[in-house]
Amino acid sequence: MLHNIPNKTYLTEAQLPDYWYNLRADMPPHAPFLNPGTGALLTPEEAMAVFCEESVRQEFNNTDRYISIPGAVMDYYRMYRPSPLQRAYALEKALDTPARIYYKFEGNNTSGSHKLNSAVPQAYFAKQQGLTTLTTETGAGQWGTALSMAAAYFGLKLRVYMVKVSAEQKPYRREIIRTFGAQVIASPSDTTAIGRKLLGEDPNSGGSLGCAISEAVEDAVTSENTRYVLGSVLDHVLLHQAIIGSEAKRAMELLEETPDIVIGCAGGGSNLGGIISEYMADKLQGKPAPYFIAVEPASCPSLTRGTYAYDFCDTGRVTPLAKMYTLGSGFRPSPIHAGGLRYHGMSPVLSKLYHDGQLDEARSYRQTDVFKAAKLFANAEGTLPAPESSHAIAAAIEEAVKCRESGQSKVILFNLTGTGYFDMLAYQQFNDGTLVDYVPTDEDIAAGVAGLKDIPGNK
Ligand SMILES: *Cc1c(COP(=O)(O)O)cnc(C)c1O
Repeated sequence: MLHNIPNKTYLTEAQLPDYWYNLRADMPPHAPFLNPGTGALLTPEEAMAVFCEESVRQEFNNTDRYISIPGAVMDYYRMYRPSPLQRAYALEKALDTPARIYYKFEGNNTSGSHKLNSAVPQAYFAKQQGLTTLTTETGAGQWGTALSMAAAYFGLKLRVYMVKVSAEQKPYRREIIRTFGAQVIASPSDTTAIGRKLLGEDPNSGGSLGCAISEAVEDAVTSENTRYVLGSVLDHVLLHQAIIGSEAKRAMELLEETPDIVIGCAGGGSNLGGIISEYMADKLQGKPAPYFIAVEPASCPSLTRGTYAYDFCDTGRVTPLAKMYTLGSGFRPSPIHAGGLRYHGMSPVLSKLYHDGQLDEARSYRQTDVFKAAKLFANAEGTLPAPESSHAIAAAIEEAVKCRESGQSKVILFNLTGTGYFDMLAYQQFNDGTLVDYVPTDEDIAAGVAGLKDIPGNK
């Protein structure tokens, strides 16, 4: 071992944080959720008809800074956490940069991503409430996989509405979900009214995330002892993901390192909210803090080109209204391979932080550049990254190259959210040189947000 700082830093089990840090306790409240039908403030009781009670209590909790993690959840966390904090020595060398690059690797579990961090507590809360069944949607497949693992562990039934094109393109994701005992329903399906309506309009529809959400919600509210679970965007999901940042901060402190820059990719915002968590706390409390960068795909640029307004969280317009950066709930993101980043909106917490200038910067990359960064990273570090995570890699590389040019040795921390094992079709296209970029025109963006002015809360 030639380096004075270890390649990997793990906390011991005794050093694991046993709380979730609640960012909202330190920030001014974001605009409240609204009932999509009436435009009035959404009440916890209304939300509890759709979501698990404890998840809703957390969703409405703006005051408790630290929320203790239930023992049963800690038991599961200990099976795959802490996740390692890794020093990217080989990448630094490949880039010939004086920067010190660190990444938190969240892909070391069977679901292959950070999503398990929220799937476990949400399944546990359902079990505590005496529910028997959960429903959800999955696009790229990571969330469905994570929730199937958690549901199996706590003995719950699970129905996963999987976007039809995804179920066809990623059959092995589907099989993992089934192996964990969950039922996979290709969406649009004929088991819900909204699915039948969409199939009536277009029998060959490949589906969309928005449609799958609408089906899963309909299933939950019309079935006995059943609730719907969401894997990103909402405040309680960001809360659970705060474990990533709390662990990262403790591990960096063991190394006596302080990041100058913290980077995360941003789809619905949960992993970014996670990695920045306790570093953002410092900033909100007026202490020195890193520079925060959100990275999104150029094809689905909600923070960089969207509008800050109330919008639906789904295409079917059944979910509560949230004030967020959005491209419009009718925006159809192009079929890029970073499926986990193809979402029209952004977490209300991150949207507020970005609007207030606390989240310093958002930038976007085209997928061909993202895959170049993924290949460079994989070849140097020996880990095959998910396309979503590779957006953060691309930004880390860009910052490290700036350091080379300026001679500054900054400390860069990014979140490596997952592995790319199920994205080999994307890598195949990249290797064959057939991968193409999609960037919406200004007209596409304008068309997406045109309807926002008619939505309650924006009038
Ligand atoms: C879902 C997913 C993302 C994006 O979701 P966020 O809620 O924005 O974190 C990023 N990376 C991977 C591997 C994912 O599965």
